[in-house]
Amino acid sequence: MKFRSTRDVTAQATDALAAIIQGLAVDGGLFVPVAFPHPNYDLATLIQQPYQLIAQQVFGWFFNELSGLEVAATKAYGSQWDTPSITPLTKQIAGNYYLELFHGPTLAFKDVALQALPQLMRLAKEQGRNPNETIILTATSGDTGTAALRGFKNILGTQVVVFYPQDGISPIQKLQMLGQTGANLHVVGITGNFDQAQTRVKQIFNNPQIRQQLAQQKQQFSSANSMNIGRLIPQITYYFSAYGQLVRQGVIKVGEKINFSVPTGNFGDILAGYYAKKLGLPIHKLICASNVNHVLTDFFQTGTYDRQRKFQVTNAPSMDILVSSNLERLLFDAYRQDAEVINKLMQQLQSQGTYQVTPQVHKWLQATFAAGYATPNQVQAEIRRVYEQANYLIDPHTAVGSFVTQQYQAQTNDQHPCVILATASPYKFPETVLTAINSQTNPPSGLAAIETLAKFDTKPLTTGVKELFVDQPQSQLTIAPPEMTTTVLDLI
Ligand SMILES: *Cc1c(COP(=O)(O)O)cnc(C)c1O
Repeated sequence: MKFRSTRDVTAQATDALAAIIQGLAVDGGLFVPVAFPHPNYDLATLIQQPYQLIAQQVFGWFFNELSGLEVAATKAYGSQWDTPSITPLTKQIAGNYYLELFHGPTLAFKDVALQALPQLMRLAKEQGRNPNETIILTATSGDTGTAALRGFKNILGTQVVVFYPQDGISPIQKLQMLGQTGANLHVVGITGNFDQAQTRVKQIFNNPQIRQQLAQQKQQFSSANSMNIGRLIPQITYYFSAYGQLVRQGVIKVGEKINFSVPTGNFGDILAGYYAKKLGLPIHKLICASNVNHVLTDFFQTGTYDRQRKFQVTNAPSMDILVSSNLERLLFDAYRQDAEVINKLMQQLQSQGTYQVTPQVHKWLQATFAAGYATPNQVQAEIRRVYEQANYLIDPHTAVGSFVTQQYQAQTNDQHPCVILATASPYKFPETVLTAINSQTNPPSGLAAIETLAKFDTKPLTTGVKELFVDQPQSQLTIAPPEMTTTVLDLI
């Protein structure tokens, strides 16, 4: 299996090893398979397998030249998860099914990929005889950073540098991120938003001078963002796992179509769902759910992507994004692998802040994707509705998905069973959840909020949540976005 950049018109092929280690293509594009796999498999058999075996199968479809995938999948999905099913699906709750992706060590779905990426990278480095030290450079809207720090902590031959928006993440997210300690870990706050962090990280990545300097030091950048194909592919697994669980619950028979609703920011999670559909999983619609930074809702509805608008900090901060990087991979398919068009669109996005797709492409997109958004108040109301109906706590990001699903179902009367991706634990955002279910005017914050929220929960606290109480946050380093380049070079 070879990979190529979405922006390279010569379609030069890179092997999986290099694609995983590099993370981003040098031309600023994203790695995609040269020939997307069309595996021959029996769906009924595959979905009966334990999570680790489904993961191994999915890894093998894309990274078949890596040996040791079985060990990689076993280690990625071992005892650091608090449930053997790894991503359990709830019974029907208020009309839909919630796929809980937050049972890993840092309480958000990012763990699913970032427990696997270090394993895949280790194999790629060993088998590619790559002697360089890997510098994982990551911009985070809150959850990727912590999951990357946790995943790569104490991994030999790796350093991690994480940039997060100083005022754009929740108190628990910050506590958790600053609580990750290890000699190879660096955490830096910036006085800017996620888009600024992500743009700079891409610039640092693609700066030829810095690349050269690193090469001389026997170092090399890589990415833990969903721009890295090695992070994206592991996320495909849980779409298959969810389908299997729905079959076992007796909701569907093998072969029947279902919908997935995905709280979306950088478009990584939902792209993994689209890849699952391409791989033959019977998916009817993928519902792209945004918060009030609803660039994607507008895009799917009108065919115009327009990031020229005010960036809003919301109660679902991990989705506060105006430039959704992974959309580029979808466009690449929509334009039938025409790298020239992708180049043109991405240049327009950079210079003019907007681009428009053709009516045919727009129609193609609408055949698979539906889209909608929720305001902060609608998020609160949805958390409350689900709690009142089912005593089930959802986090604000999951609430975005849940709200948009309700709205979509009411508007379209689409009767397919719908799986809503529950992307974070409610305990990661306890203030918002408490205010929603309890209407307190002066709710407690941070750890105190967790303790109060626990009283409303029918289930005991998980190990991951309890760990928050023993984390010892480091002192924080904060810089302005223009200082990011020198800071990286200093730290590593
Ligand atoms: C990252 C994140 C999202 C958005 O996922 P993308 O892959 O960036 O679209 C949604 N919810 C939570 C809790 C997240 O951490």
